[in-house]
Amino acid sequence: MQAIHLKPGREKSLLRRHPWVFSGAVDRVQGDPASGATIAVFASDGRWLATAAYSPRSQIRARVWAWTRETAIDATFFRSRIRDALATRPEIAAGARLARRLVHGEADGLPGVVADWYAGTVVLQLASAGAEHWRDAIVDAFAGIAGCERVYERSDVEVRALEGLAARIGALRGEAPAAPVEIREDPVRYLVDVVHGQKTGFYLDQRENRARIRGLAQGRDVLNGFCYTGGFSLAALAGGARSVLSVDSSGAALSIGRQCAVLNGFEDSRATWLESDVFQALRNLRDQGRRFGLIVLDPPKFAPTAAHAEKASRAYKDINLWALRLLEPDGLLATFSCSGGVGADLFQKVVAGAAQDAGVDAQIVERFHAAPDHPVLLSFPEGEYLKGLLLRRL
Ligand code: SAH
Repeated sequence: MQAIHLKPGREKSLLRRHPWVFSGAVDRVQGDPASGATIAVFASDGRWLATAAYSPRSQIRARVWAWTRETAIDATFFRSRIRDALATRPEIAAGARLARRLVHGEADGLPGVVADWYAGTVVLQLASAGAEHWRDAIVDAFAGIAGCERVYERSDVEVRALEGLAARIGALRGEAPAAPVEIREDPVRYLVDVVHGQKTGFYLDQRENRARIRGLAQGRDVLNGFCYTGGFSLAALAGGARSVLSVDSSGAALSIGRQCAVLNGFEDSRATWLESDVFQALRNLRDQGRRFGLIVLDPPKFAPTAAHAEKASRAYKDINLWALRLLEPDGLLATFSCSGGVGADLFQKVVAGAAQDAGVDAQIVERFHAAPDHPVLLSFPEGEYLKGLLLRRL
């Protein structure tokens, strides 16, 4: 049997069902498990704790597949976990052109596996040695879902390097899509470039927040900073915004946004797409005396881990300060952070500091989270990364 034995006391987190074993917790390795091999995890007193995947290169030395000893890790296991994930997203079966996160890693019992469903196209990300080891079984299970047209891999995430894995991209089942895939978030139609886009192509975690922005946009001049392919922009246009200025540094992303605006039949006159650094654009807009009734800021992950929190806080403060100054009285700011390294409390403090320095009084009227197809395990709070505040300028 291949196994790891933990140091005394280091079984505590596993007993709380936290699914990771850090390298420092390991006392000794039994056998010679290969990267991604299935191993047993034992406490120092010999008690069996879990079945896990071994990651010899990573600080996260093992990730738990199962908490019951009799659970075999095989193709049936992956089919069953993926079937369970699908069962909690039943709308996938029914919805034409619908998009959902189908498997959300640890929260769906599949550490290292992320899969998004875009109207029959599954975009898969395998980010751990264990997920890589079982790739064929995992891909077969997704390909077997009714209505699945193709499985396309986007395992071009940085964390793969920490696992000793090279990036992998390409069609695994079916052909690579020749054009962006069209999805619907009623009433809006979006185009998702799963081949060239960021991550798996689209930010599904913001789905419900986009719908909220649609409900708030009527008659407002909207600024969408870090707009990517215009998720929030299109929602605001659908919600009757008077104008929407969308800013991103990626010309490719903006070009998809423009195509989406045409696809939805929105008047050109209401939508402006600006390729620019947002930090600079906010200052320029201020110099131009521009004002907005609704601003969305959804920047990239400034702090991947807590070690980056201080630098990230400065960046969050800067953009929020300038955005608050651009708000009309009674104007709304929807401000987000997807940094795992900046918690909700710290984020709120940073935004409060920004308001203070901007000389702006504001109230929190709502809080934002990731959509429910991105669940968070109670025993794995690290899984909670997206938070947002809706502020009203007084
Ligand atoms: N709000 C988007 C997702 C944003 S992802 C949505 O809902 O779909 C972050 C985006 O910020 C990316 O599109 C990236 O190109 C852009 N970006 C990163 N740094 C930037 C900067 N300094 N200025 C402008 N855009 C930036």
